[in-house]
Parts: sequence; C-alpha cells; structure tokens
Amino acid sequence: MTSLPQARTFQVVTYGCQMNEHDSERIAGVLLDAGYAEADVGSQADLVVFNTCAVRENADNRLYGNLGHLAPTKQANPGMQIAVGGCMAQKDRQVIVERAPWVDVVFGTNNLGHLPALLERARVESEAQVEILESLERFPSTLPTRRDSAYAAWVSISVGCNNTCTFCIVPSLRGKETDRRPGEILAEIRALVDSGVQEITLLGQNVNSYGVEFGDRGAFAKLLRACGDVDGLERVRFTSPHPAAFTDDVIAAMAETPNVMPSLHMPLQSGSDAVLKAMRRSYRSEKYLGILDRVRAAMPDAAITTDIIVGFPGETEADFQATLDVVAASRFAAAFTFQYSIRPGTPAATMPDQVPAGVVAERYQRLVDLVGEISWAENSKLVGHEVEVLFADGEGRKDADTGRMSGRARDNRLVHVRVPEAEADRPRPGDIATVEVTYAAPHHLTADAGLLSLRRTRGGDAWAARRSEPARTGVSLGMPVLAKA
Ligand code: SF4
Repeated sequence: MTSLPQARTFQVVTYGCQMNEHDSERIAGVLLDAGYAEADVGSQADLVVFNTCAVRENADNRLYGNLGHLAPTKQANPGMQIAVGGCMAQKDRQVIVERAPWVDVVFGTNNLGHLPALLERARVESEAQVEILESLERFPSTLPTRRDSAYAAWVSISVGCNNTCTFCIVPSLRGKETDRRPGEILAEIRALVDSGVQEITLLGQNVNSYGVEFGDRGAFAKLLRACGDVDGLERVRFTSPHPAAFTDDVIAAMAETPNVMPSLHMPLQSGSDAVLKAMRRSYRSEKYLGILDRVRAAMPDAAITTDIIVGFPGETEADFQATLDVVAASRFAAAFTFQYSIRPGTPAATMPDQVPAGVVAERYQRLVDLVGEISWAENSKLVGHEVEVLFADGEGRKDADTGRMSGRARDNRLVHVRVPEAEADRPRPGDIATVEVTYAAPHHLTADAGLLSLRRTRGGDAWAARRSEPARTGVSLGMPVLAKA
C-alpha cells in the first residue's frame, strides 16, 4: 500500500495589531486547506511565514534580523521555504528578496489566498516569487481560517482606512476602506457561536465609518444591535473606533444591547488641539471629552482605554501639558502610550521640529506615571464589587504559585481569580464565573474570595474538545517549535 506523502509543516510568526493576528489565522487556514500541517512542538517547520507590521521604526530591523537568524537553518535544510507577508511586505516588496535572497515568497495584505500557489511556483521554478496587489480581490473573510481560540474570535467588518493621519502608514498599505455586508458578518458570527464561540471582537481600522462604502452612516450601530439578537453570543467588543466619526447612535446601541460590553478603546493620540491638527485627526479635545461624558452618562460602569503618542513633531511643553490635562479629565482605565518614532513613508516623518529623544523620553515617563496613578485609582473603586469573569486561555491557565486563573471582566479589565484546587471544580478557559474583587493593582484586579458562581459554557466545552488536538505552533526561528503562549 503506497503511504501518503508527508504533509509539509508550517509555522506563522505574527507581528503587529489585531488585524495581523486575524490575518495570521487566515494564513494558517489557507495553508491547512492546501494540505500543509502545523509543525508540532519541538520540530523544525518546512515553511516559516512572517506576517509583518510596518508601524514601528524598528519593524524593519526586527524582520531582517529574524530573516538573518533563519539563513543558516535554510542552508542546512534546502527544502525549507520562507515567506514574508503583511504590511512590511506590502511596503518593501522586491527589496526584501534583495536584502534576504534566501526568502522564497513575498506576498502582501491583499492576496493572502495566493500563498500556496506562490510557494509551489517558487519551488518548481527555483526562483523567489514577489506578488503584491494594490487592492483586494475579495474580502479576506471568505478565506479558510484557523482560529487561535475556541471561545473568542475576531470578526472583520472592514479593511483599509479613508483617514490620513500624518503619523500612520496603514492607508498606504491597506488601501481605502472596504466594508463587508452586514448579512455576511452576522452569518459568520452565528456560525462561530454554533461552534462554541462566546465572545467576538468586531475588527476594522475605523469601525465608526463602517457602512460609508454602501451609503449607510448608521450601519455600525445597527450591527451592534443585530449582534444582540444572536442567541448564545455572550460578549461583543469592537476595535478601533475613531473619535471623529463616533456618533450617539453607537453609544445608545452599546447601552441598550445587553451583550455589547461596557468597554471602549478610543485612541486620543494627543490632548493638544494644535498637535491633533498636525496629526490630521479631525477632532479636538473638547469633542473627545464630550464623547466620554456621553458614554459615561449612558454606561456609568464603562471602562475607557486609549492610545497616546508623546513627542509628535512640533509638540511643545504646553502641548504636552494639554495632553496631561485631558488624561486627568478622562480617567482612563488604561492607556497604551508610545514615544513618537519616525515612520518612513508618512507625512510626519519629514515634518520640521522633530522633538529630541531625551525630551520625548522625559515626557513619556511623566505620562506613564499619571496614567498608572489614575488607572490604579479607578481600579480601586471596584474593590468589594462583584464582577463577571470570562476565563481566557494562556492568561487563563492556573498559576501554580498563586493558585489563580485569569480572565476578563465585562469591562475588559484583567482579573486574577483564586480557583478551587480540584480540577473538577475549576473553571476552564471559556467558562464564566462571578467573583468579588478583593484587591486592585494599577493594571489588574484580584479576586481571592473564591467563586460566587460558575457557569460551564459551550466555549469551555469547545476549549476542552480542542485541548485533545496537537499543540499549535509558536514563534521560533531555526530552533525547535515552542508551544504558542
Ligand atoms: S484612523 Fe488614522 S491611525 Fe487609524 S488606521 Fe486610519 S490613518 Fe491610521
């Protein structure tokens, strides 16, 4: 009896944002569909795919550093292949094979589905293949997808962005906004819930402008409300909103749809109107604070988080003080803070008055201190309160030292929960429990008074069922494959 040829194994290395994480799930899905298999822990993959990010200045260094790291492995394994995709590939194209001629395939953000065919052509013709499409052929959600989690899922509602923020390279790499039809999105959500998914995150570069492409400015609020009618869907989240397009119908939809979570990640970027103008963010601090006031009026328990860039070209001490003032007024539950760094290819990269690195670093520290102080104070208000926790894989595994498992509250705060010793009484990732908050730290809550209630969910069942599958590939370069964190 002829034995089947051994499937070629692969691993996907992901850099960057949630869009890239979801794209990596599609890359894995496309490869599995083409007969590849995920490399087991400890083995050397036949194919390594880098799904790259181009946002940060050192993104280049990291990619080429890792490619250099892989060169001797490839030399020792001539049948091995290396592919580079994502935003860096969309930006650098041919340059990647010029700088790293041992790379076999370069593909972009608009042609994920072509990867297996490009790999085959590179093998047959013994020549590197570079294929970059300027726009999408079809919405990537139609591609086979290998989901990372059994109980939580990303669901794309749009790709690309119509804005032109001067520090951002996304529009030039992911193109103008393309919207998916609501019916298609809801069909995907229902199928996910049928498979055990409890929580979905709606994904778009700017979810508030969802529907512009098909002429319905109220489409995003309607979509949130429609998610409320999906039986079995416990939690709905979304990212990223944009203050300029954030309308009151979205606030009402959030407040009036029980499974839409009271958590909002709303990038501020700067509190200075002059800097917001230079960033081309098309809103000002007063509007931003007004949105927060209306969100809190409708959902007093909502947790609001944000992104802030320090040291944007031209930022003065007075501008920075304005940022500190808006942060103090906003009472963020958390903030992702960044020191401005030049991003080649963006308008801001060539702006005058680049702020010296030392000044940026000093301001950055002041901001981090203020954000930490406020998030700790906001977290402390929850001590003694009951919260509902959905236990998460990875961060949900029991910590042997503390006897705690972790998960997310409805407002997306991280909660570490002391759980029963006996496995039979312990929650599984995907299960939901109610606990009392016994301690607050700047970046998490703790609940050490045990479980007040525990609900075994279909998400927990799906996680347990998947547990019997072989462990997924992780990020490793030339060394044996590590289990995914
Ligand atoms: S809204 Fe601005 S920062 Fe966000 S992806 Fe679009 S251009 Fe970039």
